[in-house]
Amino acid sequence: MLEDKNQKRTSIASLGEFGLIEHLTKHFKINQESTLKSIGDDAAVLDFKDKKAVISTDLLVEGVHFDLSYMPLKHLGYKAVVANVSDICAMNAIPTQITVSLAVSNRFPLEALEELMAGITLASEIYNVDVIGGDTTSSQKGLIISITAIGEALLEDLTYRNGANVGDLLVVSGDLGAAYMGLQVLEREKQVFQVNPNNQPILDDYTYLIERQLKPEVRKDIKGILEKLEIKPTAMIDISDGLSSEILHLCKQSNVGCNLFEEKIPVDPQLINVCEEFNLDITTIALNGGEDYELLFTIKMEDYNKIKHNPNFTVIGHMVAENEGAHLITRANTKIGLKARGWNALEENNDTI
Ligand code: ADP
Ligand code: MG
Repeated sequence: MLEDKNQKRTSIASLGEFGLIEHLTKHFKINQESTLKSIGDDAAVLDFKDKKAVISTDLLVEGVHFDLSYMPLKHLGYKAVVANVSDICAMNAIPTQITVSLAVSNRFPLEALEELMAGITLASEIYNVDVIGGDTTSSQKGLIISITAIGEALLEDLTYRNGANVGDLLVVSGDLGAAYMGLQVLEREKQVFQVNPNNQPILDDYTYLIERQLKPEVRKDIKGILEKLEIKPTAMIDISDGLSSEILHLCKQSNVGCNLFEEKIPVDPQLINVCEEFNLDITTIALNGGEDYELLFTIKMEDYNKIKHNPNFTVIGHMVAENEGAHLITRANTKIGLKARGWNALEENNDTI
C-alpha cells in the first residue's frame, strides 16, 4: 500500500496539455446506447429517449477530502467515481456516463496520473459508465478531482428525498460505520510508520474496514433487487456523511419525524472488535461515520413482509409525525434526539450520540 519510491517518473510537462489529455483518455471505451458523442469534440452528446436524465457533481480536494499518504491513487480514482455514481443510484436511477476533471500540480509524474486513471477506468468498467469528457489543467499545489455523474430513469422510478410518509419503514442496505473505522486504522498505522519506518503495518484484523475505506462499492444492485421484490421506495438517499445526518435530510425534506432503533443498526463484527480496541461507542460510529455509500430509504409499511428476510436490507426504524421529531431509541429504551454531526465532528468528541 505504501508508495514505491523507485517508480519511474515522467514529467507531465514533457507531454504538453494535449499530449497529456490524449494519453490519459485513450483507453476509455463506450458502452452506453445513450452516448452519441464522447471524448474528442467540444461537447459530448447524449440521447435518453423516453428516460429522464439525472445529473450530480462532486469536487474532491487533496488535504480536505483525501490524504495521499495512505490513499493510493488508484483507489482514489475508484472512490471518486463511486462517490458520484452512488448519488445517481440514490435517485433510483441507472448511472450511464461520467465526466472527469483534474487539476494537477507538477509534483505528480505521469505515472501517478496513470494510476489515478487506472482506478477511474476500473470503476467505470465495473459500474458500466462511459467516460465522455472532462478537463485537465494545472494546479499550484495538490490534486483536485471533479467528477460529474449522469444517469437515466423512467420518471415514475425516480425517488427523491421528500417522499417519505408517516408510518413508512426506514430501511438501510449493508452495514454501517466500517469505512470510518478503516480510516482510523489507516491513520494510526501512518503515525506508527512515521515514528519508525521499519514498522510494517499488520492489518489482517481490519481487512474489511480498510476495504470499505479504500475501495467502497456503489449499491447499483439495489434498484434491481427492489424491483424484483416489487417494492417502490418512497424516499431515498445515499449514506455519504453518516446515518444520522442522512435520516435528518429525509425527515426535513419529507416533513416527517423518525424513530430509529439502536438495536437494529447493522454493523460488521470487525467494527465491533475495532471499536472495543479504540474504546469508541459502536452506535456513535455507525450513526456518524460517513463514506459507507449504502442506500437509506423508506418503504410503505405494507411492504414489510417482502423485505424482512432479505439479507441485503435491515429495517431500522419508522417515520412518525414531524412534530414528534427524529430520535434514536436506545437499547435501554431511552429516546435521544438525532443530531447531524457528520464524521468530522467525531474527531472532537466521541463519547456521545
Ligand atoms: P476544450 O479545449 O474544448 O476544453 P480539451 O482540450 O480540454 O477541450 O479536451 C479535449 C477532449 O478531452 C474533450 O472531449 C474533453 O472532454 C476531454 N478531456 C479532457 N480532460 C479529460 C479528462 N481528465 N478525462 C476525460 N476526458 C477529458
Ligand atoms: Mg478543456
